[in-house]
Amino acid sequence: MIKVLAILLSVILMSLTVVPAFAANEECNCGEPPIIYVAALGSGTLTLDEGTKNERVLFRPDTGYIIGELMPVVSAAGQLINDGDYDAFGDVLIECVNKIFGDLALDKDGNSSDRVTCEEFHPTDEVPHSLDHNYYFGYDFRLDPIENAKGLYQYIQEVKELTKHDTVQLRASSMGGVTTMSYIKLYGTKDIETIIFQCCPLLGTAVAGELYTGKVELNADAIERYAAQAMPELENDFLGGMVYLLLEMLVTAGLLDELIEIGDELVLNLKDRVFNEALIPMFATMPGIWSFVPHEYYEDAKVFMKLDPVENAKLIERIDFYHYEVQQSAEKLITESKANGTTFYNVVGYNMQRTPLVSAYLNDSDGTVDTKYASLGATCADINGYLPKDYVQQRYTDKDFISPDLRIDASTSIMPESTWFVKDMMHSSTHDGHGEMYKWMFESEEQLTVFSNRNYPQFMQNDVANQRFIPVHVEKGEIGTSFDNFFRMPSFIHFIDLLSKLIKFFLA
Ligand SMILES: [Zn+2]
Repeated sequence: MIKVLAILLSVILMSLTVVPAFAANEECNCGEPPIIYVAALGSGTLTLDEGTKNERVLFRPDTGYIIGELMPVVSAAGQLINDGDYDAFGDVLIECVNKIFGDLALDKDGNSSDRVTCEEFHPTDEVPHSLDHNYYFGYDFRLDPIENAKGLYQYIQEVKELTKHDTVQLRASSMGGVTTMSYIKLYGTKDIETIIFQCCPLLGTAVAGELYTGKVELNADAIERYAAQAMPELENDFLGGMVYLLLEMLVTAGLLDELIEIGDELVLNLKDRVFNEALIPMFATMPGIWSFVPHEYYEDAKVFMKLDPVENAKLIERIDFYHYEVQQSAEKLITESKANGTTFYNVVGYNMQRTPLVSAYLNDSDGTVDTKYASLGATCADINGYLPKDYVQQRYTDKDFISPDLRIDASTSIMPESTWFVKDMMHSSTHDGHGEMYKWMFESEEQLTVFSNRNYPQFMQNDVANQRFIPVHVEKGEIGTSFDNFFRMPSFIHFIDLLSKLIKFFLA
């Protein structure tokens, strides 16, 4: 009997020791930690009254719905042209904006109403993990990035479990960088091998800072550049090319200036009402949008957006935590994580006109996020200018961090050796060329730099048509650059661009 018990006991003991060994064998040995794409603003669909007959998608709203709701504004605009009654037009405009977006507002502490819900994200194993597959993490953009970082933590644990890996790699796009930095603040990077930031407002974006301090301004040159640069997105699209050409002709004929005058009148007459009756009630309590406000605007913005130190105490505590402990502590967080073995890559765009309705319209950017903020502090010339001729690189003078087109000094950024600047890269718009570069970064266990690979120098010209990057060249004036672009990156849109520049030149 004792012998039987002893055998039973040893079988149990053996099975106990075998189980962990079996679990250890289950670890994936592919050597490629799974990649999680930490998505941008709008990644999580927000629904009002889900599961009821009043259910409606709040964000992003259906285009058809917006157009339907905007119809009264269009007819009110017609009325405005007739009678010049800005207040009547303002009534219709504000009511419409509030109807479409008003339900997105949070409470005084920055919490969502129970009526608004965000879709949940969980990884699935439909596709085997590899460097060609990204797990997708989205979230409610309105909320405190710290809350979304907790969601990312859960998601990372689920991916590790699903793929049998101890670590993951992150590719953060735009607002995904805010979520990722908040994650690093809360949890460190022991679970993360590599992080790629792509067009992230790591130090904010001027459009948020300026709107939160009421600095609205229309500028004709900025609007022209902003509209024109959207066209290459329609590469090889004949209609897109024709619209581009038409726009350039409108500008040449001075029609745009007349449109701007109408816009200026609108801003003059309606700015205060639109801010007080729509924008401030909607955005003042959104910690997610507060995370975009750069330091130079931050304290003024709290006053302009009318945050009450008592009423909004909880909200202020939250946004201050992100601003000071995450955004303004980026250098410390990244340096510590690098020391612990995590590799970092930062890919930012430049030479794109930023949102043309704010005073900071001359900031170089990817169209949405300013290059100086995304790059964690690079020194950038204005969008229509160059660094001074006698400019001297500010730091690390043993290596060259100045762009060949004299637009950027990368030496002042937090990680100059692992920050890439892609000329003409529209905010978070990628192609196969990006995919190949990201794969190169994810495959490496060592920290790669802008000096590691001749194919990926620090300053690269985005060649959208041919889905690749080519080195940035010295600029040769407007027409010279158009010629250069056409011969180095032959495509329909570069042909149209050159044609329009020549027409402009001969008409001028
Ligand atoms: Zn694996």
